[in-house]
Amino acid sequence: MLTKILGIIGGGQLGMMLTEAAKKMPEYISDVIVLDPTKNCPAAKVGAKQIIADYKNKNAIVELSLQSDIITYEIESGNSEVLESLNRDVTVNPSPATLRTIQDKFVQKKFLQENGFPVTDFALIESPSDLKEKIKLFGYPVMLKTRRDAYDGRGNFKIERPEHLTTAYKRFEEKSMMLEKIINFKMEVSVIAARNTKGQISTYPVVENIHEENILKMTIAPARVSKKILEESERIAKEIMDVLQGAGVFGIEMFLTQDDKLLVNEIAPRVHNSGHHTLQSSATSQFEQHLRAILGLELGKTDLLHYAVMCNILGPKDFEGPYEPIKIEEKEEVYLKMYQKDVAKPQRKMGHLNIVDVNDTRDINNLIKKAEEIRNKIKFRKQIQQ
Ligand code: ATP
Ligand code: MG
Repeated sequence: MLTKILGIIGGGQLGMMLTEAAKKMPEYISDVIVLDPTKNCPAAKVGAKQIIADYKNKNAIVELSLQSDIITYEIESGNSEVLESLNRDVTVNPSPATLRTIQDKFVQKKFLQENGFPVTDFALIESPSDLKEKIKLFGYPVMLKTRRDAYDGRGNFKIERPEHLTTAYKRFEEKSMMLEKIINFKMEVSVIAARNTKGQISTYPVVENIHEENILKMTIAPARVSKKILEESERIAKEIMDVLQGAGVFGIEMFLTQDDKLLVNEIAPRVHNSGHHTLQSSATSQFEQHLRAILGLELGKTDLLHYAVMCNILGPKDFEGPYEPIKIEEKEEVYLKMYQKDVAKPQRKMGHLNIVDVNDTRDINNLIKKAEEIRNKIKFRKQIQQ
């Protein structure tokens, strides 16, 4: 089999971990090229070549396609129109059509609803008066969302009272918006699913996600749910994979309601933060799985070999700038992954910590406690110039 050159749109931490996985598969992938606007992006630091340009820059995407055999992406805000128009010699996965459906949250929810998947009530918002009218259907509080280019909750505004309506609309005035009924969920969960180019589908066991200020703080693998919910979440994820076109890993976020129903929140057409635990907890990491999927290889095993807790390391709120390298005490069950970003910024994802239950105690509370203890010891210190 001829080796391939892999092009990735986006070279942040996800592109970095995809590059590292690719380097372990030299019999299939000879080189990785990323397109990213930040010079010396995380993926470039681990050996990817880099085209420095905006993710949506048409010339840069075409250049990437000329240099690559297969193209994938680590962000959903890519330019699906340009990807769709590329020369047939390069394969893009997940397919640009799927990216187009997913990258607009309204189109995505409609697609899910039309295919019979349970979602929260939602509506398109086209004007301030439209917002005023549609809020009546849902009642307060409601969630106003931008349809595109949102991440880490930055495109969400929870409207608690009528007085906040104008502020909320003004926040996103330049963008197209949608409205969602707020779910008073019991838990947020997600399933990392994969589909290869031959149609083989596999899912990792459902995990539990804890957010703080709209940013993922911790993932607990497996989620503390009943067997019934575990199976139901997997079934939904598999059915979603059946209706989506293209190959790759997808992160499927769901809400578990107070009466134990699962609602699909959103799909990410890429490797997902809640799948980082697989680097140590599973035989196949989500990054290797994604590459296997787009290369048309048989998918790897997805069983959870050990329980695990993943903790994100975010930039501290009172610090911005270059920082001294972060080090922690080395232990068999503790894995620190820093993304080598040059500059820390408040709430920026700087790295993650995996605590793995190597002794199979299955004591999740203890794993959470350990993760929090270690994370709280991590401090960002201003880098002293040499
Ligand atoms: P991310 O990049 O973290 O996946 P995002 O910016 O694309 O997120 P969402 O996933 O839509 O945005 O929302 C972020 C978080 O806001 C969710 O994980 C959830 O905690 C909360 N949220 C979003 N929609 C709702 C809703 N309808 N009801 C209750 N909470 C919600
Ligand atoms: Mg989300």
